[in-house]
Amino acid sequence: MQTPSPEQAYRISVRQLLLRPDETRRISVTLDAETTESYGLRCRELPSAEGILENRAGVLMLRYTLHAVPELTCDRCLSPVEVPCEEQFSHVIVTETADRRQDAEYLLAPDAMLDLAEAVMTDLRLSLPTRILCRPDCKGLCPSCGQDLNLGECSCGCGSVTVQYDDQA
Ligand SMILES: [Zn+2]
Ligand SMILES: [Zn+2]
Repeated sequence: MQTPSPEQAYRISVRQLLLRPDETRRISVTLDAETTESYGLRCRELPSAEGILENRAGVLMLRYTLHAVPELTCDRCLSPVEVPCEEQFSHVIVTETADRRQDAEYLLAPDAMLDLAEAVMTDLRLSLPTRILCRPDCKGLCPSCGQDLNLGECSCGCGSVTVQYDDQA
């Protein structure tokens, strides 16, 4: 018996599903910490996907709800920020690279093997906000002495309490 490596554990064959119109298969998977971190994300709650693979008149669809609580860092003060994600995704599965489209709607399953970890982590990344703040009015760190200005003014005399962030950008 071989133990599948973490990357292989989330790869499933969709060959039978592709061949049988109206066939469905339930998907319920939770990624492990090692896999999640290999995609560069730490999570307070590991990513899980609940949904179905469904062959609709010859078109294979993956529809699922993604739940995860990644732990990111505040863009300003670098403190940890939990960013809960609870979102639904829907993809068309294609098997040929010739079918490849630059569209998140399509998921490529080479040799009819679908990599659920890749799909879930890609969706999770795309769902994250581009700006991460621990709170909307985070004052950030003093650029001179590194003091967390949320905790109070620093005493390095740089006058950084007057720093204004342009939030309108
Ligand atoms: Zn902050
Ligand atoms: Zn300072």
